[in-house]
Amino acid sequence: MPERPIDLHTHSAVSDGTQTPTQLVREAASLGLGAMALTDHDSTAGWQEAFTAAEGTGMLVVPGMELSTNDGPASVHMLAYLFDPLDATIVAETARIRDGRLHRAERIVEKIARDYELTWDDVLAESSDGTTLGRPHIADALVRKGHVANRSAAFESILHWRGGYYEKYYAPSPLEGVQMIVAAGGVAVLAHPATHGRYRPASESMLRQLVDAGLFGLELDHRDNTDDGKAWLRELAAKYGLELTGASDYHGEGKPNRLAENTTSPEVLEKLLARGTGSAAFVG
Ligand code: AMP
Ligand code: FE
Ligand code: FE
Ligand code: ZN
Repeated sequence: MPERPIDLHTHSAVSDGTQTPTQLVREAASLGLGAMALTDHDSTAGWQEAFTAAEGTGMLVVPGMELSTNDGPASVHMLAYLFDPLDATIVAETARIRDGRLHRAERIVEKIARDYELTWDDVLAESSDGTTLGRPHIADALVRKGHVANRSAAFESILHWRGGYYEKYYAPSPLEGVQMIVAAGGVAVLAHPATHGRYRPASESMLRQLVDAGLFGLELDHRDNTDDGKAWLRELAAKYGLELTGASDYHGEGKPNRLAENTTSPEVLEKLLARGTGSAAFVG
């Protein structure tokens, strides 16, 4: 088991990161990471490229995904590792989410276009075929048009969920998410569960259901979790026997988060690898 840093939450341009999986894996290897997980939103399309790029680096690549779920009005992100990428339910459900995201992005752009010069083609130009579309791609188009300075500025204004242009998109419930990940041989970890704002803390009653469905852990060390929230997550982990992870949620230049700014212990990685049976981690 590697003693070098372990980062289990990163994004490539398959979703809203700014690097190809190859560039991302090379950067992680050059920084000396012992293990990383590629966790693009609602897509496994980057896995093979990430494995190939890791060859000869000595770094472990854990195949993963950040699954979108909705708990009523709240968006809840669920990290999924080592599941079968060909599982019929996962394939169908992620396709449905990506399609919902595409149409939702069109609706957001329609609304923004009433007030700012912006077209759908401007947004498509910021992504490639098959990309899991999100507000970050709209942000990039707004930056290129000169309406905002960078992605963060876009999220604080036009793209804020209370900014007047926000739209929701289809996603399964958190419980359905855990059930489908576990049924596909995967390991489910609740992503950044204690942040401010729209991604509000998951309630304890919901958590209890997820634990019963086989939830493995909580992402504790993440820059968006509040200090109070982290204390609460530690209590919940002790109470329900959940593992605690830490990760960067790196998006390349798309966010200030840096690779391995938060990490997971080798002991927790070992348990995660033992739990996942739907696919294998790649030893580079
Ligand atoms: P969406 O999934 O389309 O609702 O957009 C949310 C995504 O935008 C999250 O997954 C984040 O990766 C990204 N995001 C959220 N806030 C920011 C920010 N301030 N700067 C850059 N990206 C952000
Ligand atoms: Fe993201
Ligand atoms: Fe997230
Ligand atoms: Zn993420």
